[in-house]
Amino acid sequence: MSEKFKPPPFNYCDYRCDRCDEREKCRVYKDDQERLLDHYRKGEDPYDPEIFVNDLKEIFGKTKKMIRKMAQEQGIDLETASDEEVPEINPEEYVIYRLAYQYFKEANAFIKELENAGIPENIKQDFDDVVWYHTLIAAKAGRLVSGFIDDFLDEEVTKLEEDGTIKVIRKGIDLSKIALENMLNDLPGHLYAIADLLEILKRTEKQLEADIHQKV
Ligand code: SF4
Repeated sequence: MSEKFKPPPFNYCDYRCDRCDEREKCRVYKDDQERLLDHYRKGEDPYDPEIFVNDLKEIFGKTKKMIRKMAQEQGIDLETASDEEVPEINPEEYVIYRLAYQYFKEANAFIKELENAGIPENIKQDFDDVVWYHTLIAAKAGRLVSGFIDDFLDEEVTKLEEDGTIKVIRKGIDLSKIALENMLNDLPGHLYAIADLLEILKRTEKQLEADIHQKV
């Protein structure tokens, strides 16, 4: 299976399409652009909740078809695949997830505080980065640990998946650190909160280096 497995760019991306140089090769991006264009052509607002929900239904339908096709290409028969229950994983058991989630919670409180106080114009971009990545880091850490007991994929593919996920987490950490450090100058009143967030990010980074499988 591993010889044939070439992960598409969106498998390990941070979904910031506006900054991505894989757009030309990315099916997710192309599909999304076509979806938007189609609505604009019809004079519809693609962000209208009703239209958006309908689009989501269509996207799920297409994803199902895509998964079936990929499984077929990789010689996996989904109809006869074992329906043995996949063991549940508790992400809280893993240090790496706990750190990522702690960062999410503290960053979220910090974000809300800044939103209430008003975001200075010159840190808007940094603020957006912190907002974007505080959920992504936790979500990707959850995905990382949930792969530990999944033996559906072979070892090589699992390693590829892990490395890709770790790469996105690291990217999120790096960009969040830069953003928080930039914010320090303009938000001296939030020095301790920012220092705390940076500290958790550094601990998360170290944990990625040291042992992603370590349990609490
Ligand atoms: S274009 Fe968007 S969805 Fe595609 S790989 Fe880049 S960031 Fe991900």
